[in-house]
Amino acid sequence: MRVAIVGGGWAGLAAAVTLADAGIPHTVFEAAKTLGGRARRVDIDGRVLDNGLHILLGAYRETLALVRKVAPGSEPFRRLPLTLEIADRFRLTCPRLPAPFHLVAGLARAHGLSWSDRYAAARFMVAQRAAGFHAHAGETVAALLQRTRQPRRNREYLWEPLCVAALNTPPAEADAQVFLNVVRDGLNGSGGASDLVLPTTDFSAMLPDPAAAYVTARSGTIRTGCTVKSVVRGPDGFTVRTSDDALSCTHVICATDPARAGSVWNELPELAVLGATLDRFRYLPIVSIYLQYAGTVGLSSPMLGFVEGPAQWAFDRGALCGQHGLIGAVASAAVDIDRMSADSLAAAVDSQLRRHIPGLPPPEWQRVITERRATFACVPGLSRPPQRTPLPRFHLAGDYTASDYPATLEAAVRSGIACAQAVLEDR
Ligand SMILES: Cc1cc2nc3c(=O)[nH]c(=O)nc-3n(C[C@H](O)[C@H](O)[C@H](O)COP(=O)(O)OP(=O)(O)OC[C@H]3O[C@@H](n4cnc5c(N)ncnc54)[C@H](O)[C@@H]3O)c2cc1C
Repeated sequence: MRVAIVGGGWAGLAAAVTLADAGIPHTVFEAAKTLGGRARRVDIDGRVLDNGLHILLGAYRETLALVRKVAPGSEPFRRLPLTLEIADRFRLTCPRLPAPFHLVAGLARAHGLSWSDRYAAARFMVAQRAAGFHAHAGETVAALLQRTRQPRRNREYLWEPLCVAALNTPPAEADAQVFLNVVRDGLNGSGGASDLVLPTTDFSAMLPDPAAAYVTARSGTIRTGCTVKSVVRGPDGFTVRTSDDALSCTHVICATDPARAGSVWNELPELAVLGATLDRFRYLPIVSIYLQYAGTVGLSSPMLGFVEGPAQWAFDRGALCGQHGLIGAVASAAVDIDRMSADSLAAAVDSQLRRHIPGLPPPEWQRVITERRATFACVPGLSRPPQRTPLPRFHLAGDYTASDYPATLEAAVRSGIACAQAVLEDR
């Protein structure tokens, strides 16, 4: 057996680590010079940043296990019991109690909600638990919140920020079922599932770099800066063509982003139908705005939310990563602000922070990073392809493949592991 993995994002690397554990020879082809795909380190003006600010949840079981496996003893996260703070409006801190008592206790002590708001939020959770976290067919998150009569503050401070952060899709369009899956595991799960897991290192250092070291010390090879031009039928099953050479393999795991997947397999007629499925995907941007202030500047909380845009969340990189005075802000589902210039966007985020931090000095440095195809729009009725394709021994990994979860690290990692396990079944 020899496996080609096309794409060195979190899905491709999860597949590689799983194959390395089984001693199966494999090669990861990554077009970029840096591993990690949409969750990777970028070095700008001597600063170590990420292409996008990410958060994880305690419910990201497979992702957290993978990080622990490839970098044992390292804890590149800060785990906080579920805490949501919206600047000057709302604060929810849930104690470490079994679900749902953590949420009940958190709501009882929450700032910024009336008693009837708290009752409505608790009623929502109880009703969803009783109904098995099932949305109506084709329902959007906005319709779900209306049907369950959630008051304005609950929507603005709790449910809508959660929806946009997790699904990168506005509530009026977002798939209520996927949202409820996140609520089920993130808010209702036990054993720290609802913890916020905030990175304390850059994203390549967290998983991709140690994963690469892990697989190359076993049965894997990693080729960065190596774009796969196409996969065709070959003597052992498939031939993977790059601009420099060709590799014969028995299995292929295509772990690219959905927008580029079709170009890898377009010479395999059995997969034409998959291409048509992916053509129906729509993508939404996420913009990350980094502002460097004097080293003494920090936020009241490592992660702070805002009701008014353009950014929905700001992260204190000083408190989290030791980058003192560096604030990273994120604008998800950023369809409109994507049209603003980088300077005006940075100025708008600076004003947002200024309203919250009196006497904030002017920023010393700024950088805006836009990921135009950050995730697919997670809308009702979207057909996500399964990891097994109609073509035996050709598998699909990636956050866009069939999953309970929206486009997240956890969806990507689970899909990569599932593909590797499918390969192992052929032994
Ligand atoms: C700004 C931003 C913020 C986000 N925030 C969060 C968050 O807070 N929490 C969360 O869980 N998720 C978040 N996500 C989503 C998360 O980053 C993705 O779900 C995840 O990284 C997808 O991983 P993947 O391996 O499926 O795909 P990708 O990361 O896209 O990896 C695919 C890889 O394939 C490579 N490739 C493509 N074509 C070829 C080719 N022909 N040959 C060789 N290589 C190729 C690409 O270069 C890429 O490295 C965010 C995403 C972005 C962009």
